[in-house]
Amino acid sequence: MEVKTIKTDWGGDLKQNTHVIIGENTCVVIDAGCPIQDIKNLTPLPIEAVFITHGHFDHVEYIEEYDKLGVPIYVSEETPMFLKDTNLNVSRCKTYKVNNLVPLDDGDKIESCVGTIECIKTPGHSEDSMCYLLYGETNTLFTGDTVFSVAMGRDDLPTGDTIQLLASLDRILNLDFNEMYTGHGRVSTKEEQKTNIPKWINYFRNTKTI
Ligand SMILES: [Zn+2]
Repeated sequence: MEVKTIKTDWGGDLKQNTHVIIGENTCVVIDAGCPIQDIKNLTPLPIEAVFITHGHFDHVEYIEEYDKLGVPIYVSEETPMFLKDTNLNVSRCKTYKVNNLVPLDDGDKIESCVGTIECIKTPGHSEDSMCYLLYGETNTLFTGDTVFSVAMGRDDLPTGDTIQLLASLDRILNLDFNEMYTGHGRVSTKEEQKTNIPKWINYFRNTKTI
């Protein structure tokens, strides 16, 4: 099992990361922020499934392309609402029509060729935010925009919620994983987050009345 990351430039500070988990015979894609051709340039293996961390446009822009493959596209129960709403998906102009969505709930586990993937609901950046925990020799966490290597996710976008975000960060801190792949920026580790996450939680508790 190997994780490769494709970075797509949407004009912001940090490029969006689409992660490709490469197994023996197939690959699994986390988020749909890049065209399928970018995945094909990376690996000849067929895509087995796509897991969406949340419905912001930079993470789902190419979701209709992946939908045409006929593979399951796993999302949280709230993500379909984001795909249909230009305000919620923050595109201000785009909606996405997808046929193969498979809504997942907290704790659901999907068996894939790259290993078991557990859904961890982490609202706060957006109501539909989901982390995915890939079980292996050491576990790997995919966090979307809930937490980055050197920052926590934004809580000021539609359906964002500071209290929920802090609870989600606390939950992440209690998960068993080694590497952490985020929706923007570089890869991180649990070891690094043991220092960072408590710092951010304390900062918010001290500066905001929550
Ligand atoms: Zn986002």
